[in-house]
Amino acid sequence: MKKKIAVIGSTGSIGTQTLDVVMQHPEHFEIVGLSAGSNIELFVEQVNRFRPQKASIANKSLADQIRSQLPQGVELFYGEEGLVEVAAGTDAETVLTAIVGSAGLPATLAAISEGKNIALANKETLVTAGHLVTDLAKKKGVALLPVDSEHSAIFQCLNGENMEDVQQITITASGGSFRDLTRDQLQHVTVEDALRHPNWSMGAKITIDSATMVNKGLEVIEAYWLFGLGFEQIGVLLHPESIVHSFVEYRDGSVIAQLGSPDMRVPIQYALTYPQRWKSTTKRLSLAEVGRLHFREMDFERFPCLRLAFECGKIGGTAPTVYNAANEVAVARFLNQEISFLKIEQIIETALASHHVLDNPDLETIKEADRWARSLASTI
Ligand code: NAD
Ligand code: MG
Repeated sequence: MKKKIAVIGSTGSIGTQTLDVVMQHPEHFEIVGLSAGSNIELFVEQVNRFRPQKASIANKSLADQIRSQLPQGVELFYGEEGLVEVAAGTDAETVLTAIVGSAGLPATLAAISEGKNIALANKETLVTAGHLVTDLAKKKGVALLPVDSEHSAIFQCLNGENMEDVQQITITASGGSFRDLTRDQLQHVTVEDALRHPNWSMGAKITIDSATMVNKGLEVIEAYWLFGLGFEQIGVLLHPESIVHSFVEYRDGSVIAQLGSPDMRVPIQYALTYPQRWKSTTKRLSLAEVGRLHFREMDFERFPCLRLAFECGKIGGTAPTVYNAANEVAVARFLNQEISFLKIEQIIETALASHHVLDNPDLETIKEADRWARSLASTI
């Protein structure tokens, strides 16, 4: 029987690579739900190719534009309810969350409520409301399978081990587009410079997050929720080649790492086939060809957003929500050329400094903190 999958955020970097993986195994996968933001041309093509039960696009006017171009039998929805419909309203076994930002939270919670396993790329959702997402997943007995390459690596290194034996996990960081620039040099970098990532081709938001190191900050908090470790057990190491995707150190001193060519289709596929491993067309890793790998201690002064993420993570409550929301707005403003690169960290820091943290927030409190941070971050 084919494994049924819904993809939210299907037109983005992770979304298209997910459909790539699906096309490599047409006899094993079936797409039953697709949703996207505003790239309607590609979305129409995808819906015609995969003929899902349900499809959804960002808003009504886009839905009206594409309705006549969709095949018969596909139910079309739009907006936040449409997203929820695609995530939770099909007979998918797994929902791959490839949407960007905390906008993915309601749909992710709805999918978990319906007992669907989550192949999780949308890290902002876990950062924003980690306790709600993981509690509900536990209650519903559904798996949260990491798509993020570092978390997939750690997940693979933990296979068959006891969590009590874990000393420490280390998340590797490529360093992003500006890893070799000084803080002084960062003052005048442009959007174009920032979008040129040395190792990965990704969506605009995460590419900027890699340059500010916010991405690693989000990943630290993501790891905290996925693996249930303390923040003092989570380390970050600069590794420019992105070959060692992350590693786990055990109490006997053994270190187990996961390696591979940088290709997101590998962790995407593993999240969809776990616990099996299937063939893949990824470029094989030749360590002889690579020759050398480099590692450097992380500099928290050079990358203050990483320091802030650890601080927020330890504080908990609504602090990570505010960190994430302020960053989402700041990145959008930077991409819009409204603010300079270094303003991103200032906006996050200011939002956190003005925020009164609430402990153990419910969904309404999370949404309120998210709105509050967005509104503040758009005026700083
Ligand atoms: P992207 O910008 O390329 O794609 C985002 C997708 O979400 C698009 O399909 C867009 O249309 C859709 N979308 C955006 N807002 C929407 C809305 N309101 N309603 C419905 N759809 C909406 O982003 P990406 O790089 O693919 O990243 C997606 C997620 O995966 C992010 O959370 C990112 O942090 C994470 N991630 C990405 C990579 C990568 O290599 N790109 C690696 C690890 C994790
Ligand atoms: Mg990652």
